[in-house]
Amino acid sequence: MNICGYYPESINEGEGLRAVIFLSGCRHRCPGCFNPKTWNFNFGEPFTLKRQHEIIAEMAANPLLDGLTLAGGDPFFSADEACGFLRELRTVLPDFPVWIYTGYTYEELTATPGSPEWNLLAMCQVVIDGRFVEELKDTTLPYRGSSNQRIIDIPASLAGSGVVHWQPAVP
Ligand code: SF4
Repeated sequence: MNICGYYPESINEGEGLRAVIFLSGCRHRCPGCFNPKTWNFNFGEPFTLKRQHEIIAEMAANPLLDGLTLAGGDPFFSADEACGFLRELRTVLPDFPVWIYTGYTYEELTATPGSPEWNLLAMCQVVIDGRFVEELKDTTLPYRGSSNQRIIDIPASLAGSGVVHWQPAVP
């Protein structure tokens, strides 16, 4: 698995101040994609265990961070590897909130419990789901590119029978 970007601090990819890691590789091919270069699974640098540990240590040393966001590409095309990274993260930061972006829908990701995609989803707290739809592009929406995309509370959704939308801590 390669990564094609890492922001130690950002306010654009989720609530609060977050570290952001962009995982290379996506096969959704949404027309109008913000960065088609990220479709290539070989784009960027190998996300070696050494690099994972460096970034985890940097996050652990930053008390200002509210969490981590995994973006891409689409991390769910590298679900097993992304789960491996999150297991490394949890050994150091067990309660660090993780948001994740995907072009899949929540329903697609949860169709097969125990699948790599389901496992990755279950290791995160919030998912922004759905492909980017150019006709529904809306730059006023927080954290999303188009209005079909949803911000979903994963634990609440998995505990119930349907999608529970994420609510900000301070509305
Ligand atoms: S899911 Fe995201 S990265 Fe993949 S093609 Fe769509 S907009 Fe681009």
